Amino acid sequence: MDNFQLFNPVNVIFGKNTIGELPNLLKDKSNILFAFGGGSIKKNGVYQQIRSALANKNIIEFSGIEANPDYDTLIKAVELCKNESVDFILAVGGGSVIDGCKFIAHAAKFKGKNAWDILCGKEVKDALPLGCVLTLSATGSEMNTFSVISKRSTKEKRAFSSTLSFPKFSILDPTFSLSLPERQIINGIIDPYVHVTEQYLTYNVNAPLQTRQSEAILLTLIEEGPKALKNLENYEMRANLMWCATNALNGTIGKGVPQDWATHEIGHELTAQFGLDHAQTLAVILPAVLKHEFENKKKRLAHYGTKVFAIKGDSDSKIAKQAIEKTEKFFRSLGAKTRLSEYKITKKSLKAIPEQVMKVTGGKKLGEHGNIGAKEIGKILDLAFE
Ligand code: NAP
Ligand code: FE
Repeated sequence: MDNFQLFNPVNVIFGKNTIGELPNLLKDKSNILFAFGGGSIKKNGVYQQIRSALANKNIIEFSGIEANPDYDTLIKAVELCKNESVDFILAVGGGSVIDGCKFIAHAAKFKGKNAWDILCGKEVKDALPLGCVLTLSATGSEMNTFSVISKRSTKEKRAFSSTLSFPKFSILDPTFSLSLPERQIINGIIDPYVHVTEQYLTYNVNAPLQTRQSEAILLTLIEEGPKALKNLENYEMRANLMWCATNALNGTIGKGVPQDWATHEIGHELTAQFGLDHAQTLAVILPAVLKHEFENKKKRLAHYGTKVFAIKGDSDSKIAKQAIEKTEKFFRSLGAKTRLSEYKITKKSLKAIPEQVMKVTGGKKLGEHGNIGAKEIGKILDLAFE
């Protein structure tokens, strides 16, 4: 096992009626930016619950943070924070609103000229504090340091990480996720599934606890995901999915073990160029990455096949191959597409993607072995196409 540091200060408040904690959590705050997305919280009643919980506070509303939050939108909120002396940001929504608020929090305190530099590796020293009310479980953003921001004007999508992004608290009431459309429930199964595989499907290391923690999350997603899709009003199933998503990317399972993230890096570029949902890109790219990296990942894939899909046999190659097939089959059984050709994307339009990915990484090759460069990404996209 590799050396590691684990620091996660997020106060997670999970369950029904936990929104009632909000006044207490914000009792010392004066000017609160209440940030949300395109309006789902007005339809499902979350907006009204928050307004009444914070009736005695000075609330500055900022709505319209879109899926794959856009830099130009977020910059407007940064101005608002400065003009209204905001001292706390309350992010109410899914990963996009939370990620967007992490960026707003940093940009509001940023001393440089161009806040996009935060996404290009510029050191960040200060940020406004933020808290979350989660309405869509998928990304784990509610309990981690990551933030992924898009810039539609230049078709870019970049991420940054800062310990100042840790939410002070995250209210996780699965009831709030009951209004999700099917497509977002599917996304909320696939994104955490791939967060786990990025930290688990690498090479064998002596870390049986992290290995089993990862398998526990995968097995739970495989069990609860299809049930939740068949029982759209079931609280318990949605509660299990929500807690899986948080645990898939709150830092724990990836400690002391190799990590991959090639699927995410390539996927981000597909969202930036073609507007696919984040999880839609992952369902297409993960099987292709696993096929391309078959020899490097074979032993681990065979372990995964045995433990997660109960595949029997004594040939690692055969079990590993079946494990990739079962992964894809699972995604398809949820209703996800697993080939780029199923979207309105031409092979020709993929040509620039490998170089764009390398531009975002600053030329750093991807994967746990650092062996996936532009040429390999091209081959992965071919495998993902048909
Ligand atoms: P999302 O983009 O936050 O939300 C997708 C859609 O779901 C929105 O249109 C939203 O509508 C709707 N929605 C949210 N809650 C709802 C509810 N309870 N009922 C009905 N509709 C609801 O989805 P996401 O998958 O959570 O976030 C994706 C973003 O996170 C991507 O940019 C991705 O790159 C990023 N990401 C971040 C991390 C991380 O660690 N930070 C990890 C993976 C991915 P409204 O706008 O109307 O609310
Ligand atoms: Fe993700």
